[in-house]
Amino acid sequence: MKNIKGLLLSLEFYMGRALQNTMINLGIQTSVDEALYQLGLDIEELEELEADAGLGNGGLGRLAACFLDSMATLGMAGYGYGIRYEYGIFAQKIINGEQQEEPDDWLRYGNPWETARPEYMLPVNFYGHVIDTPEGKKWVNTQVVFALPYDNPIPGYNNNVVNTLRLWSAKSPVDFNLKFFNDGDYIQAVLDRNLAENISRVLYPNDNFFEGKELRLKQEYFMVAATLQDIFRRFKSAKFGTREPIRTDFELFPDKVAIQLNDTHPSLAIPELMRLLLDVEGLPWEKAWNITVKSCAYTNHTVLPEALERWPVSTFGSILPRHLEIIYHINFLHLQDIQKKWPGDMDRMRRMSLVEEDGDKRINMAYLSIVGSHVVNGVQGLLRDDPEKFQNKTNGITPRRWLLLCNPALSDLICDKIGEEWTVHLDQLQKLKQWAKDGNFQRAVMKVKQENKLRIAQYLESEYGVKINPASMFDVHVKRIHEYKRQLLNIMHVITLYNRIKKNPAAKVTARTVIIGGKAAPGYHTAKKIIKLINMVGNVVNNDPIVGDKLKVIFLENYRVTLAEKIIPATDLSEQISTAGTEASGTGNMKFQLNGALTIGTLDGANVEMAEEMGMENIFIFGMNVEEVEALQKKGYNAYDYYNSNPELKQVVDQIQNGFFSPGNPDEFRDLADILLKYDRFFLLADYEAYIKKQEEVNAVYQNQSKWLEMAIHNIATSGKFSSDRSIIDTEEISGG
Ligand SMILES: *Cc1c(COP(=O)(O)O)cnc(C)c1O
Repeated sequence: MKNIKGLLLSLEFYMGRALQNTMINLGIQTSVDEALYQLGLDIEELEELEADAGLGNGGLGRLAACFLDSMATLGMAGYGYGIRYEYGIFAQKIINGEQQEEPDDWLRYGNPWETARPEYMLPVNFYGHVIDTPEGKKWVNTQVVFALPYDNPIPGYNNNVVNTLRLWSAKSPVDFNLKFFNDGDYIQAVLDRNLAENISRVLYPNDNFFEGKELRLKQEYFMVAATLQDIFRRFKSAKFGTREPIRTDFELFPDKVAIQLNDTHPSLAIPELMRLLLDVEGLPWEKAWNITVKSCAYTNHTVLPEALERWPVSTFGSILPRHLEIIYHINFLHLQDIQKKWPGDMDRMRRMSLVEEDGDKRINMAYLSIVGSHVVNGVQGLLRDDPEKFQNKTNGITPRRWLLLCNPALSDLICDKIGEEWTVHLDQLQKLKQWAKDGNFQRAVMKVKQENKLRIAQYLESEYGVKINPASMFDVHVKRIHEYKRQLLNIMHVITLYNRIKKNPAAKVTARTVIIGGKAAPGYHTAKKIIKLINMVGNVVNNDPIVGDKLKVIFLENYRVTLAEKIIPATDLSEQISTAGTEASGTGNMKFQLNGALTIGTLDGANVEMAEEMGMENIFIFGMNVEEVEALQKKGYNAYDYYNSNPELKQVVDQIQNGFFSPGNPDEFRDLADILLKYDRFFLLADYEAYIKKQEEVNAVYQNQSKWLEMAIHNIATSGKFSSDRSIIDTEEISGG
C-alpha cells in the first residue's frame, strides 16, 4: 500500500540534540556556519548549549530515534508516538567513584523544537468499573487525565520531507479531585492536580529490567490510549472509500495504518484497540480481533527473564478493569486454539497462557503481544511455532547522525573517494574496499582517527586530570552498565594488564587507554558496584609511576547520545563482550564499525551478522558461542574450575576480593568477587582466558599499523547492511509495503 501510515509506538525516543541534525538534513549547515562566523559567533559553541532530548535509556530508545530519521529520509509517512517526559534519563555524576543521579531538567529553558497542539488534546480514563448495558459493556466511574500533544519535527535528509514525533504530556482536568472542591479544601484540590500530571513527569531509568510500578503502567496506558484516539480521529477524517451517508469502514483500518510496538511497553494497544472497536464502535469480537491483529506488529528486544513485563492481575484490574476482561477473553480463545492444535497438552496450555496462574496471577505482556500481532520481529526464545509470523529484521543506525554528523572529517574523506550517495545508500561504502590496502588512503584515515583521538584526549585530560597518551590504543566500552554486558570482564582484563606491568616493568607493551562509560539503573546495586570498581582501579592504575603512560583507565561520566557522538569517532577498539545469547542485537557495535574501530566481541546479537559481513579475519571474536553457553549451563557452571586453574585469573579475583583497590574498605568489592565465584549467571570466568588471549592478538595487530588500517577500512566498507534505512525497508516488505 502506497499510502499506509507507519506508526511507531514507543515509551522511549532517545533523540539527543536536534540542531546540527536539522541543519544537516535541511542542507543548510555550511551556510549557517558561515553566517554565524561573520557575526563573530561559533556554531559549535552554540550547539553545546542545547540539552539532549534524553527520553530513553539506551539501545531501545535510540533505535526508535534512528527509525524516525530513516522513515523521514525514505519519504515514508512514518510517525512516532511517545511521552513528553518532563525529566529524561538522569544525569550521572561520579563522586568518590560512585554514581550519583541528578534530575534531567531538560525543559527548564523551554524547548524551541516543539509545538503544543492543545486543539488535539484527548481524555484518558483510569480505574472505575465495567457495567453491562443493552448496548454492550461500559467502562464507568473512571478518573480522567488529559493528554496534551506536543509535535516535534523529524526532517528527512535532503528531501523536503518533515515527519512528526508526537509526544503526550499529562494535564489535569479542571475538576480533578472534585470531592476536595466540594468539601471546601480548595488548596488541597489545586495541589492534587499534580497527581494526575505526574504521569508524564519522569522516564523510568531501567534498561532491560521490569519494575512493576503502578505509575509505569499508567504511563504505558496513557500513551497508548491517547495515541489510538488520535489514530482513530485521523482515520475517520480521511473517510476512506466512504460514500454518503458517511460511515467509517474499519475493515480498511489495517490497510491504512501499521502499528509497530517497540517492545511490550506499548502492548496495551492490543486490548485498547479491541476496546475501541467493540465498546465504542460496536463491532463484533471476530471482526475487531482480525482488524487488531492485522494492524499490530511487535518487536521483541530481550530474552532476559528479569526484563519481561508481567503485570500482577491485581494492579492491572484496578487501573484497567475493562482491559483485563478483554485480555481474559483473548486468552480464552488462545487456549482454545492451543487445545485444538495440541489436544490434551495441559503443560503447553499452562506455559503458553497469557495469564500466569502459578504464584500471584500475572499477565505476560510478551505473549499478549505475540498473540495480538500478525508479525513478530527479533524473537530468540519465545513461542516459535510459526515461521511466517516470527522474523528477524536486523537492526541498524542512521548513517546521517552516526557518520555524517559525528565524524565530518571521515565523511569528507569517504566523499572524496566515492561521492556522497553513501549517506542514503550505505551499501555504496563497498566501493572503499579497493583502497583498503592503499597506503595513501590508510594514512588519510589514520590522520582523521588521530585528530579525533587528540580532541577526546584533551577533553579527558581537562575533565579527569589524567594525562592521556595519544599514541595509545583507545579501547572503548560504552553502553548501559549491566551484568550481562560484562563491563566487569573488561576491568578484569585491565587488572591483568596492570599486574603484568608490575611484574615485569621493563617488558614492551602496547599502550592502552581503556575508556568505560554508562549509566547504572539507580536501584541496580551490582551495576553501581561495578562502576565503583572501575573508578577505583583507575585510581590505582593512573597514579602508579611504574605504569606511566602504558595504561590508563577512565570511567566516562554521563554517557549519553551527545557523548557517544564524540567518543565513537575517536575509538580504536570497540568492546562488545556480552555473554553469547544475552544481547538481542546491540547497535553501539554498528556505530563503532561505521567509524573505523575494530571490534573485540563474542558471537552475540548483531556481532554475528557483523562478523558475517566483515569476515571472521577482520573481527576479534572470542569465547563461548550460544551452544557452548547452553552446554555449560546444562552441565553446571563451576567458576572455581577456572579460578583454580589460571593463576593470573586467581590473582585478579583475589585482588577484587581482598580490597586491593579499596584500601580504605577491604570489604568494598567482596560482593562482586562472590558473584564471580558463586552466583555468576553470565560466566565471566569461563570466557576470561579466551578474552585475554584475544586481547593479545589485538595488541599484535595494533603494532602493525597498515594491517590495522586495512581491517578498519574493510570494516567501514562492509557496514552498509547496518543502516537503519535498510531495517525500515525490510520491515516495509513484510507488512506488504
Ligand atoms: C547506541 C547507544 C546505545 C546502545 O548501545 P549498545 O552498545 O547497543 O547497548 C546506548 N546508549 C547510547 C547513548 C547510544 O547512543
